[in-house]
Amino acid sequence: MYPEVQLYIDGQWRPSQDGRSLPVIDPATGQTLGSVAHAGIADLDQALAAADKGFKTWRAVSAFDRYKVMRKAAQLMRDRVENIATLMTQEQGKPLAESRAETLAAADIIDWLAEEGRRSYGRIVPSRGQGIEQRVIAEPVGPVAAFTPWNFPINQVVRKLSSALAAGCSIIIKAPEETPASPAELVRAFADAGVPAGVIGLVYGDPAQVSSYLIPHPSIRKITFTGSTPVGKQLAALAGQHMKRATMELGGHAPALVFDDADLDKAVQLLVASKFRNAGQVCVSPTRLLVQRSVFEPFLERFVAQAKKIKVGNGLEEGTTMGPLANDRRVPALESLVNDARTHGATVHIGGKGLAGPGYFFEPTVISGLTREMRLMNEEPFGPVALIVPFDTLDEAIEEANRLPFGLASYAFTASSKTAQALSDRVEAGMLSINHMGIGLPEIPFGGIKDSGYGSEGGTEAIEAYLNTKLVTHLG
Ligand code: NAD
Repeated sequence: MYPEVQLYIDGQWRPSQDGRSLPVIDPATGQTLGSVAHAGIADLDQALAAADKGFKTWRAVSAFDRYKVMRKAAQLMRDRVENIATLMTQEQGKPLAESRAETLAAADIIDWLAEEGRRSYGRIVPSRGQGIEQRVIAEPVGPVAAFTPWNFPINQVVRKLSSALAAGCSIIIKAPEETPASPAELVRAFADAGVPAGVIGLVYGDPAQVSSYLIPHPSIRKITFTGSTPVGKQLAALAGQHMKRATMELGGHAPALVFDDADLDKAVQLLVASKFRNAGQVCVSPTRLLVQRSVFEPFLERFVAQAKKIKVGNGLEEGTTMGPLANDRRVPALESLVNDARTHGATVHIGGKGLAGPGYFFEPTVISGLTREMRLMNEEPFGPVALIVPFDTLDEAIEEANRLPFGLASYAFTASSKTAQALSDRVEAGMLSINHMGIGLPEIPFGGIKDSGYGSEGGTEAIEAYLNTKLVTHLG
């Protein structure tokens, strides 16, 4: 049964003070699943007061004890995987196997960051004078405000939540209204594991109202946002105006460069799986597949053949490999991008439109014959659309890869270590994965450059974003 999702404020699950709620829609059927509480300013004020209190409590807990609570939360996620994955598929649409994988990956992320919390060392700097001790201390930044989207309802929260908690911060999460129940289960796992009241707040509401209230609020010391570049720029500007630290994980338009010496079958298999995962609603999804001209035709043919095997359907049904888009506004948005390309002469090999009937389904789509003027070659489709584009030389491929203002993920397939080295030197991206899809593990950095944002949500860098550096110099 899908729950009536509530706010979590000061250790209590409760409706909003004015009783307002929003419907939650099943994207596979278009039917209402349940509802989610809609926070107003009075709720946010309570969450802020609780976060202030929670920060005082949590920073006083030793790193070792924080670690123990977090590890317990990770185990609860593993124990509850079936229930949580079902809720995620109901509200978001992705196949059950992907929801399970996301839930279990969250447990691994919690474990990794719990461990990192025990290693947030300071240092002693040798002094110039006798009797002087110079200590560099890592301290939690304070209460955090986090804003997360609907494409990975748990993953987008868990990276922020675990980093904040490992560092000793409290956090208020504005989770996605479209997919509220699975992130609520993540918060429940932490609450059941023993995180004290006030340390975690969970709210839903009007995103613009919540962010414009929380970001400038004096209690909040750090902002973290995942979502589109235009919204990220607005929130980063507001954070800058109020001198708040910020991490921004924004849009991408990932290039995947396939050279003529690559293992073509492997490239096709990995790129199809990655492109259509979560119906392409992934910021690191490979989108511009740049293929060396001598292998362009066989690549295209095999890619189309592989993409045709995708089984689109309700994510709860056995055998489904691609679910619906997560909300109704994405179907016309994608159709408009594809129609623009078609009108300007592109060839749509398969797909290109929404499916008739209930739900927000969009066909797996493969397009070639693209030019740089087409919107699809410049705007993030954020859907199951692969663009296949030929290139002749390494320089030409790198120039196209770097052409857009985005710089999040990039991929390449080549047997040449010289080519791999040139790419690692010259591709402008926060992440480059060569000959495999190796992005997104807890222990490695995750983040973008240019218009894709700043900061990292993985590796040792993840926790640093939640720590202040303090110098204490003491003449004894
Ligand atoms: P959108 O730009 O309206 O919203 C994107 C996300 O930002 C949503 O979660 C939304 O709740 C949030 N948001 C919007 N305005 C906000 C504000 N003023 N303050 C705080 N949060 C705010 O677009 P959408 O229709 O929900 O999604 C479509 C686009 O968003 C996609 O094209 C994609 O580029 C981007 N997106 C990116 C990611 C990612 O993982 N980087 C995830 C989801 C959406």
